[in-house]
Amino acid sequence: MMVLTKKMIEIRSILQTVGQSNTLNLPSIVVIGSQSSGKSSVLEAIVGHEFLPKGSNMVTRRPIELTLVNTPDAQAEYGEFPALGLGKITDFSHIQRTLTELNLAVPDSECVSDDPIQLTISSPHVPDLSLIDLPGYIQVVGHDQPVELKQKISDLCDKYIQPPNVILAISAADVDLANSTALRASRRVDPRGERTIGVITKMDLVDATRGASILNDRKYPLRLGYVGVVSRAPPQSTSLFKKGSGSISSAVAKNEHVYFSSHPLEFGVEAGVSVGTTTLRKKLMQVLEQTMSASLQSTSAAIHQELEEATYEFKVQYNDRPLSAETYLAESLDAFKHSFKEFAESFGRPQVREMLKQELDQRVLDLLASRYWNKPVTTLSATIPEADALSTLPTADPESLYWHRKLDASTSALTKLGIGRLATTVVSNAIQAHVDRLISQSTFSAHPFARQAITEAASGILNERFYSTSDQVENCIKPFKFEIDVEDGEWARGRENVAGVLKKELKAVEDAVKHVETEVGGRRRLKDVVSFVEKCRKGDIIIEGDGGSGAGGFSKDLLQKGKDAAFLHDRATLLRMRLSALRSSQCANSKNRYHCPEIFLDVVSTKLTSTAVLFLNVELLSEFYYNFPRELDVRLGRGLSQEEVERFAREDPKVKAHLEVIRRKELLELALEKMEGLRDLEVAEKRRPGKK
Ligand code: GDP
Repeated sequence: MMVLTKKMIEIRSILQTVGQSNTLNLPSIVVIGSQSSGKSSVLEAIVGHEFLPKGSNMVTRRPIELTLVNTPDAQAEYGEFPALGLGKITDFSHIQRTLTELNLAVPDSECVSDDPIQLTISSPHVPDLSLIDLPGYIQVVGHDQPVELKQKISDLCDKYIQPPNVILAISAADVDLANSTALRASRRVDPRGERTIGVITKMDLVDATRGASILNDRKYPLRLGYVGVVSRAPPQSTSLFKKGSGSISSAVAKNEHVYFSSHPLEFGVEAGVSVGTTTLRKKLMQVLEQTMSASLQSTSAAIHQELEEATYEFKVQYNDRPLSAETYLAESLDAFKHSFKEFAESFGRPQVREMLKQELDQRVLDLLASRYWNKPVTTLSATIPEADALSTLPTADPESLYWHRKLDASTSALTKLGIGRLATTVVSNAIQAHVDRLISQSTFSAHPFARQAITEAASGILNERFYSTSDQVENCIKPFKFEIDVEDGEWARGRENVAGVLKKELKAVEDAVKHVETEVGGRRRLKDVVSFVEKCRKGDIIIEGDGGSGAGGFSKDLLQKGKDAAFLHDRATLLRMRLSALRSSQCANSKNRYHCPEIFLDVVSTKLTSTAVLFLNVELLSEFYYNFPRELDVRLGRGLSQEEVERFAREDPKVKAHLEVIRRKELLELALEKMEGLRDLEVAEKRRPGKK
């Protein structure tokens, strides 16, 4: 039984997945012949199906590495292109179309390519064989083909007919053997004819005596001999048997039988010649088995060496550190969840309160600016002393309806701002930003797939909670829309808080002024520019045009800086005034809320914040902290298929290289183990009684 070829083909497919390495080539049968010598017909007779590209234009442009796998216990016959991932193709005309497309994809300018197409055909009717079909040799280059084509084909064939491959040299009986390009090529690399099988096709086209004499050729002796075939099935039988199993093979065999048995003298047992496709199939199996057997040792040694290299690389570059896509993902996920837990512990109610308060402070500042501090800026100026400026401001009369209305309108603008929506948005955005930061600090940063999965997990939960949270918050602050009581303690804290906010703001403005000062070259110079700008503003000086190219001896750029500084001065003055108003005795207690809107609005915003935070914590934060890690498990843990896990891990080039060296090592170990098993089998076979 020929188990060796089958096992070796298995090993070869393992080695193929390890990657291209010339040293790991196992022997194949390489089929060469001139165009129209009948090469395709022979291969199809062996496979039993029409599957090779046909056409007048040169259609075989790439080598086809054809692996035949005998599946004795299965009925199905199918082909697979491992590199294309098209799955099992049971329709052989589909295989033919695919091969034609793959070949025609080679541009006309190149004409041939040495990038092989891998095709595996599994069937109970094929022998275990590994064949390589090559473009046919051409005699004359067509007018639309490049001149170097002949040479290119010849070079491509030469590459494949090297040892340990077996050469199947196809020649047609109706062409003189001396003119056979296939035999000439094989003689160049196998001068003693030790690994070449001669196939003479179209035996029916010459008379039987001449046919027999070709098979007995003494001029070009081949150790493995010649086989004569009539590999073209009669047209009616191909169509008749097309869909049946082994259709062409049996039709060809019948046809050959009829032909050869009608010439018993020339082709009978006595004649001592080999004829028929069935004989050829057997011969191919035997020869390949022997060649495989002979190459066992050298292949083992080559795999050994590759394995040693992989082992060394694993040790030196990766310190023998084991890694699998699953463990990598699991560890990355654990680390990420851990960092998320740390974040969750550091981002609770106090932090949310602070964030929300800041946001509302800003809104309050805007409200005050538009409703209270909205005097035209020209009335204030860096040139007017602050005390004077303060006195220009209207004083609030606690009894006046005007001031009541003003404060009530401001308060209601604040409470009806849409706090629910605002607060939920602020907190959601903050959480999403924190998650993004955690991603970028984690191993997931190098994995677009995981980044997206995590971001989506977070936004999914946040979006789902958004409306209910914002409704809840909005409902709970509702009472403040109608009435707001202020206690003395709250007032005092508010006063302090507003002072803090104003001081901070003032500091920022002063820093900005300093910045402009250094930009223009000192305080003095800035003062000159500002006073010029002030004069222009008051109308004391009229600049012709728009001052676009400068005025008063100052450049346009400098004037702009002056304007900026004047604006900042105004702003600083205003802030100082607000601070002194705040410090005044009138603002010392809550009775004077109409006089001190800043404090009152701050107290309101604090109350709104505290109430909002309570519900944000329950409705959004706690829910998020509970659900997010679980969602991560689903999206990046058990929810992923094996392929997705592999794809994920390989997104990181470093991890990919690490995984690949491990995979390579494992596959080589597996191949080697199988090899050793085969060698043991061989030894046992040789020792069997009756074997020499
Ligand atoms: P390729 O170009 O070498 O692949 O040759 P093909 O297998 O396509 O055959 C070329 C032509 O020769 C086709 O028309 C075949 O039908 C025909 N042919 C192939 N083998 C035989 C044979 O044994 N006898 C006869 N009479 N014709 C054959």
